[in-house]
Amino acid sequence: MSGLRVGTGFDVHAFGPGDFIMLGGVRVPHSHGVVAHSDGDVALHALCDALLGAAGLGDIGQHFKDTDSRWRHADSAGFVTAVLAMVREAGLAVVNADLTVIAQVPKVGPYRDAMRARIAQLVAVDPRRVNIKATTTEGLGFLGRAEGIAAQAVVLLEKV
Ligand code: MG
Repeated sequence: MSGLRVGTGFDVHAFGPGDFIMLGGVRVPHSHGVVAHSDGDVALHALCDALLGAAGLGDIGQHFKDTDSRWRHADSAGFVTAVLAMVREAGLAVVNADLTVIAQVPKVGPYRDAMRARIAQLVAVDPRRVNIKATTTEGLGFLGRAEGIAAQAVVLLEKV
């Protein structure tokens, strides 16, 4: 059996009151915040689900319930750190991660390098093993109307 495991993640949060969002562990100024129990970082939530999926460990909602007061306003970097510990416990390590932020606003470009560096640090890999992509939906749908933000993640793990 191959020592490789692939996982995917997807997350959405609606925009709400506020003047910044957390995205890929980086504070990004914006005309809105996000509505969320935790800090609502869609990129890190999608990353957690991809890590858990690749390791066969379920999903982020099972491990960090959004009704649990411990995770209220939680820094999602802490979720990634906890999930990485589970991945390591399962005898696995990150090969690479590829993330796509899907949003009409805010612009991701200026923060891409910082997100890449932060995520690489959180999953303990060289930044060259982390890729951040961004796309709009060409104005279509709830993302196109700037009602919220979404992210997808794909992660490859290997047995160590
Ligand atoms: Mg989420």
